[in-house]
Amino acid sequence: MSGLPIPVVLVISAPSGAGKTTLCERLLADVPTMSYSISCTTRPPRPGERDGRDYWFLDPEEFERRRTAGEFLEDALVHGHRYGTLRAPAEAALAEGRDVLMDIDVQGAARVRAAALAAPPDHPLRRGYVDVFVLPPSLDELRRRLTRRGTDAPEVVERRLERARAEMDRAGEFMYRIVNDVLERAHAELRAIYETARRRGGGR
Ligand code: ADP
Ligand code: 5GP
Repeated sequence: MSGLPIPVVLVISAPSGAGKTTLCERLLADVPTMSYSISCTTRPPRPGERDGRDYWFLDPEEFERRRTAGEFLEDALVHGHRYGTLRAPAEAALAEGRDVLMDIDVQGAARVRAAALAAPPDHPLRRGYVDVFVLPPSLDELRRRLTRRGTDAPEVVERRLERARAEMDRAGEFMYRIVNDVLERAHAELRAIYETARRRGGGR
């Protein structure tokens, strides 16, 4: 066994509005060498989002072409749009010994978790895998945050809340759960989960 630390594959899921983007940004600022897995999506960019930084914004045909070509580690339909995690950048980062952060939904997390479990014992995905579900303090607070964020129309907020209930039912599948009530505390918990995984090599 080499003395090099095993890179962490940190998968983070949460209902929309729970504060996952905020927490991911903080962790990336804490650990600048960590590679953020930029997903592909067919959803249109929100104001302020940039292609190649927040997402790769693809039209449905290009998304399908990449899917058929096997470029995605996982892909899923979320809120009526397709999202997918590119395999190659994650594998390249791990090969360089860099940690990878994936902000994906519960379906995607289940698929990456299954892939990690099915991989050979010495595979970086299997060795470094850890997943976290971020919960909002309550559904009312989630509605407030989505409304305050101001990026979604009221009917979209309601759709997201319906979906949030279903996603929160699956929180038990994750290795860790964090309630994002006070941001500082949630951030400290996420940081501690990462540090532990980094020391141990993965979450198991
Ligand atoms: P997600 O990526 O899960 O959809 P965001 O990170 O965009 O969520 O957060 C949704 C909104 O809630 C943002 O306006 C963000 O600033 C705010 N927010 C995040 N965490 C907290 C918190 N602990 N307390 C209050 N507001 C928060
Ligand atoms: P948003 O449109 O608000 O950025 O993201 C909506 C949901 O899609 C979030 O739960 C986010 O984690 C998820 N998501 C983003 N990228 C991916 C991806 O590559 N795969 C999957 N399965 N979900 C993703």
